[in-house]
Amino acid sequence: MAVERPKKEKIWQGLPASTGVALASVHVVRDHFDEPEEEIISPSRVDADLARFRAAIERTRLEIEELKRAIEQEEGDAASNGEIFETHLLILEDASLLNQVERTVRNDLLCVDAAYYRLMTRHMVALRGLTDPYLRERFLDIKDVRKRMMRHLRGEHRTETTFEHPVVIVAHDLTPSDTVQLDRSKVLGFAIETGSVNSHAAIIARSLAIPAVVRLHGICDALQSGDSVLLDGHEGLLILNPTADTLTRYRLREEQVERQEDILLARRHEPAITTDGKEFCIGGNGEFVEEIDVIKDSGCEEVGLFRTEFLYFEDPEASEHALAEAYTEIVWNLAPKRVVFRTLDLGGDKVDPLLAAEPEPNPFLGWRGIRVSLGRPDFFKRQLRALLRAAAHGKVAIMFPMVSGVEEVRDAKRLLQECERELRAEGVSLAGEVEIGAMIEIPSAAMIADLLADEVDFFSIGTNDLIQYSLAVDRVNERVGDLYQPTHPALIRLIAHVMHASHEKQVPVGICGEMAADVALTPLLVGLGLDELSVAAGQVARVKHAVRCLSAADCKQIVRQARSMSTAAEILELSRTHAQAAYPELFL
Ligand code: PEP
Ligand code: MG
Repeated sequence: MAVERPKKEKIWQGLPASTGVALASVHVVRDHFDEPEEEIISPSRVDADLARFRAAIERTRLEIEELKRAIEQEEGDAASNGEIFETHLLILEDASLLNQVERTVRNDLLCVDAAYYRLMTRHMVALRGLTDPYLRERFLDIKDVRKRMMRHLRGEHRTETTFEHPVVIVAHDLTPSDTVQLDRSKVLGFAIETGSVNSHAAIIARSLAIPAVVRLHGICDALQSGDSVLLDGHEGLLILNPTADTLTRYRLREEQVERQEDILLARRHEPAITTDGKEFCIGGNGEFVEEIDVIKDSGCEEVGLFRTEFLYFEDPEASEHALAEAYTEIVWNLAPKRVVFRTLDLGGDKVDPLLAAEPEPNPFLGWRGIRVSLGRPDFFKRQLRALLRAAAHGKVAIMFPMVSGVEEVRDAKRLLQECERELRAEGVSLAGEVEIGAMIEIPSAAMIADLLADEVDFFSIGTNDLIQYSLAVDRVNERVGDLYQPTHPALIRLIAHVMHASHEKQVPVGICGEMAADVALTPLLVGLGLDELSVAAGQVARVKHAVRCLSAADCKQIVRQARSMSTAAEILELSRTHAQAAYPELFL
């Protein structure tokens, strides 16, 4: 009898982006390679290509019909979504489109993948940028059908977003909107070829408390869906076919990590007070409604940043009513904690699916954040009205992202007041005061913090962006990853300047970027006098523990020393050395 030999273990080293260990089979997402090569085929291949095309249409048709049946069985609003799939079937089986593809393959000898992709893309381009909501929706419909067809043409038959078993997602890149579409209850980790620790996929992994490793070069080609892997988010390793020895080693290590976690978690609901009596507010960051329970239980004092983009990606066309319902659910469940909702920060790597066909040469310097909202006032007002409705059910603050100057804040506040007046006139009962905040994530905003302080109730420093814009280092570009330095002297000076300018005007300042969660930097942040550190729910207990082990007076001294240093490495070393001495248990 043939005995199956154990498969060989193979290890890839990447960059750890979210801690934890996952053991599962992988699901390789290949969507990002949708655009096929424009291959010219030999005449003898034409019939085979067209047969493959017809088979792909048939499989796509079955898939859409199945989705339509499933959704029609659901109650309420969801049932009406069946109509969407009806439209998808019409697009899929459009006779003139199919004939055109066939003609291109026969006459131009262009492979069918490229012929189909090219034609569908042409239709999408014709619809792009239209303001008519009906036509805009057709754009998304065509895109959806194209995506399904490309997958079937490549011979990938499984649906990409729902899984029967828990999986580790392997992808070249994972945009925030891709992440939203995944069945997150089954996703145990992300293994990504590109990206960085500060890309939004990594931030989401930390929010969901699942391991993530980025910069795993060549991983998409090396793995097949179904392969068994162990993903180590502590060390940044992906291990294919882990041996029994490897598994035992990991089990022992995870038991130790869990024991350590339990010790930290025991005090998570106690305040974070330094040894010399200075209290810090430790907030939680959130993105999804399903995170509410985890945030609530994390020990955070409030939600210092709720990124609303992810709810938007789940349904870009959601009505004011639906949005208000979702926001209210969050507020209601987290009461009495305050929730700081950040208005939509679309753009950069959070590409708006409705505008995806209009790529920009420099997305991070383009149509992003408050600029998008102010440029589409009706769209912005829908969100503001929904937030005001939710504010009647708990403590809500509204924060504007990507502020570069005073006018933007004033314009946004004007629209907010307009929404308030309209809602009152409609007889909607509203909360008294809703606090207004601005993100400080563009150097210009940091430099004019004194002027902005006259306009808002609080600031939150978005270090993820403040670092990229101050140092001119794209936060997701791995080539310049080494230059992305949170302890760069310029950053320390900028933060110190914001602190001084805003405290003069009694405006509190928090940090909601990833820097707030790095316990090696807590001495610096405590010394700089931040009022709040807002971090992913899973990090709250750690950061609280770090604060409790520090003396604010010593930390002030550390900042004084840091301000005389000239390199990021020196400042990092200074802060880390102090942190390691104060709470060595967090550096095991
Ligand atoms: C930041 O820039 O630090 C921030 C919190 O916002 P985001 O990461 O969503 O851009
Ligand atoms: Mg930001």
